[in-house]
Parts: sequence; C-alpha cells; structure tokens
Amino acid sequence: MVRAGSVRRESDSSLFSRGRLDTLSPQKRSELMARIRTKDTEPELRLRRWLHAQGLRYRLHDTALPGRPDIVFPSRKKVVFVHGCFWHRHDNCGLATHPKTRAEFWRAKFASNVARDRAKEAALLAAGWGVLIVWQCELDDLKRIGRRVLRFLDRGRTSTGGL
Ligand SMILES: [Zn+2]
Repeated sequence: MVRAGSVRRESDSSLFSRGRLDTLSPQKRSELMARIRTKDTEPELRLRRWLHAQGLRYRLHDTALPGRPDIVFPSRKKVVFVHGCFWHRHDNCGLATHPKTRAEFWRAKFASNVARDRAKEAALLAAGWGVLIVWQCELDDLKRIGRRVLRFLDRGRTSTGGL
C-alpha cells in the first residue's frame, strides 16, 4: 500500500540508531513494531515458494493447531515455524540484538516471546506433531535450509513416500 507522502525509509532507521523508538507513544511504537514484524515475513515467503517449487503442498497458519504454525504439512503431521531472530531470540545470532534503552521492557518482552514459543512447541509435540524451527538468518542460504526441511519431512517415513 502506497500512501501519499509515504514514510521515508531512512527516517525509520534513524529512529532506531538514535534510540528514539523509546520516546514514541505506545501507539506509535506498536505501529512501528508492526511494520518490522511484516518485514520479518519476507524470508518465510521465499522458503514457501521454494517448497512449493519442490512439489510440496502445505497449509498456512493453521488456527486449529497450538501456536498457529507458519507452515503445516497435515498428511505428515509436521509443522515448520519461521522465526525472526530478533523477536524470538536466536541464540548467538547477530540479529538478536539488545536495544540499549528501556532494557527492562525489552527483557520482559523477549522472555515472554521465548516462553510462548516453548509452550507452543511443547503442545504440538504432545499432540504428536513434528516441529522444525527455521531461523530468519538461516534463510540467507535458501537451498540449504530447504533441504533441511525436506529431510525433516521425510524423517520417520517409509521409502515409498516420495514428496
Ligand atoms: Zn539468527
């Protein structure tokens, strides 16, 4: 969607570099955070296109399942989550930065994200689903991560399965 007098990219990044994000009103801040979250979905789209090109068919964001997994393979009873490294706190990852201001706010936010992810995963495993987490930074090498998803999907299947 293009708005008249559209938002300039550089103004977004300067908000962060100057730490001004924290001086915004809660509403402005959540608007900004929503935009960042939207950007996080681009790598997921690339992965989905790649999987589709391999002949795989899947459901998206199945609300019937715990945690509304990103990519669902119902016949295999397997799901894939594509996690943004910042929001979901990828261990030892350069993208999982710590904002310098309002440290306590961010610590609580991240802790609740991670706890929620663990609870979702545990609920899915308990219901007999296989779960694979794919990290945003890993999608730089799309083929490599795509092959990992294929291996994950084939795990526990007989050799007659195919794709
Ligand atoms: Zn990462």
